[in-house]
Amino acid sequence: MENTYIGLGSNLADPSAQVEAGLAALAKLPATRLVARSRRYRSAPWGRVDQPEFVNAVAQLATALTPRELLDHLLTIERVAGRERDGTRWGPRVLDLDILVYGDRVLNESGLHVPHPHLHERAFVLAPLAEIAPDLDIPGHGSVWKLLASVDASSCVRMAE
Ligand code: ATP
Ligand code: CA
Ligand code: CA
Repeated sequence: MENTYIGLGSNLADPSAQVEAGLAALAKLPATRLVARSRRYRSAPWGRVDQPEFVNAVAQLATALTPRELLDHLLTIERVAGRERDGTRWGPRVLDLDILVYGDRVLNESGLHVPHPHLHERAFVLAPLAEIAPDLDIPGHGSVWKLLASVDASSCVRMAE
């Protein structure tokens, strides 16, 4: 089994419920166990700021799926949640599931980059990740807690429940 972390995000159609449903879907993946989950965080949009704020969370999985199999399952979960891709990068979405880290693998394949290329600079990923894995080493970047200390996390707030 490999230790992997998934980032979840939503800013449409009841984002908190979307993130919770995404976590429930991850827990049901074949050959996979949900090991831990963060709380939900409310955060300002990134990349394109003219859209509703996001709800984000991170899940830790133990899985026997390969990275490519896992990605295919994540894209299916997004589709089932009603995500439509119109080609707009960083636009509003019902559910976004990204592979953040997969063991100690470094993958740069077509459509699959691990660790996630923007992970180290995104407070909305680092804050929930630090809650469940502060000492995790991001290959090529260092520990999660050090990375979190190096970004502006003021617009990313843990939700009450
Ligand atoms: P970002 O990747 O900057 O967070 P995004 O999540 O909005 O942007 P998407 O439109 O959801 O981007 O994904 C576009 C493609 O990114 C996916 O079809 C997938 O093939 C590819 N991709 C590459 N690496 C990963 C990864 N680690 N996790 C998820 N998708 C990935
Ligand atoms: Ca993303
Ligand atoms: Ca994505």
